[in-house]
Amino acid sequence: MPPLISHRTLLEPRSLADALTLLRDDGPLVPMAGCTDLYVSLNFGTLKEARFLNLWRLSALRTIEMRGGLLSIGALATHTDLIRSALVRRRVPMLAAAAREVGGVQIQNRGTIGGNVANASPAGDTLPVLAAAEATVVLRSAAGTRRIPFTQFYTGYRQTVRRPDELIVALEIPAIRGRQCFRKVGTRAAQAISKVVVAAVVGDRPRIALGSVAPTVVRATRTEAALAAGASIEDAQQTLVDEIAPIDDIRSTAEYRRRVAANLLALFWNGASRG
Ligand SMILES: Cc1cc2nc3c(=O)[nH]c(=O)nc-3n(C[C@H](O)[C@H](O)[C@H](O)COP(=O)(O)OP(=O)(O)OC[C@H]3O[C@@H](n4cnc5c(N)ncnc54)[C@H](O)[C@@H]3O)c2cc1C
Repeated sequence: MPPLISHRTLLEPRSLADALTLLRDDGPLVPMAGCTDLYVSLNFGTLKEARFLNLWRLSALRTIEMRGGLLSIGALATHTDLIRSALVRRRVPMLAAAAREVGGVQIQNRGTIGGNVANASPAGDTLPVLAAAEATVVLRSAAGTRRIPFTQFYTGYRQTVRRPDELIVALEIPAIRGRQCFRKVGTRAAQAISKVVVAAVVGDRPRIALGSVAPTVVRATRTEAALAAGASIEDAQQTLVDEIAPIDDIRSTAEYRRRVAANLLALFWNGASRG
C-alpha cells in the first residue's frame, strides 16, 4: 500500500478567477480534474508533486455550447458529458465515438476532456479527433487568454505549451465538412490503451490524425495531400506507411501499427466509419 497522502495539500477554489489567482500566487500547483490519470501515478508513487488545485467543482468549465459558430467544450466536460451531448453527437460524432471508447463507464464519468488533453499521452483517445477537427485549445491565466491550434499544443512526448499558471478552460471546434471516422484498436473493447487510434474527415479536404504511432498525436499531412490530389487509396496507404514512424513497445510492434493504420485508412475511405 502507498503511504497515506496527508502531507499533500489540496486547494479548493470556488471560481475560475479564484483558481487562476491561486495558480499565479500560490504555485506551483498541479491542476486536478477527474483525477483518473493523476490517481494512477499517485498510487504507483511516481507523483512527486505535493500541492494540488481541485477544479472538479468549477461547473462553469463543464458547459458544452455554441459560441460564435464554434462548438465550445468546457475543459471539465466528462467523457459521459460528451457522449450525452446532442451538440457533440450532431457536430462532432467522431468525438462522441472516441469518448465511448475511453476506459469503462466509471472512467467516462470522472475523466474529463481537459484532463485527456493536458495529460498529453500519445494514446489519449480524444487527441486524434481534436487534431482532425482542427480544434483550438483555450488556455487562461490570471493575465489573460491564449488560443493555441491543437496541432501546435504538443511540443514533444508529454510536453505541451501550457504554462504552470495556465489552465485549459475549453476546446473550440469549427464546423467540419465531410464524413467523420474514428477507430481505436486495442487489446479489448474496454479499459484498453490503444495500439493505434485514428480519426479522419473524408471530404474535399481530407484530414487524418493518429495516436500511439509517435511521441505526440500526429496529422498525416502528406497522406492528406495525396488524397486531396486524387491519389488512389493504395498509393495513399503507401504514403501513410512511409509517413508515420511508430515504435515497438509492450503494447505492439511498429510493423503492426503501420499495417493497422493503412488498413483503417482504406476502411474509412471505402465508406466504413464509426462516428
Ligand atoms: C482504468 C483507466 C482506464 C483509462 N482508459 C483510457 C482510455 O481508454 N483512453 C484514454 O484516452 N484515457 C484513458 N485513461 C486515462 C484518463 O482517464 C483520461 O486521460 C481522462 O480523460 C483524464 O481526465 P481527468 O479529468 O481524470 O484528468 P486528471 O487525472 O485530473 O489530470 C490529468 C492531467 O491533466 C492535468 N489537467 C487536468 N485538467 C486540466 C486543466 N483543465 N487544465 C490544465 N491541466 C489539467 C492534470 O494536472 C494532470 O497532469 C484511463 C485511466 C484509467 C485509470
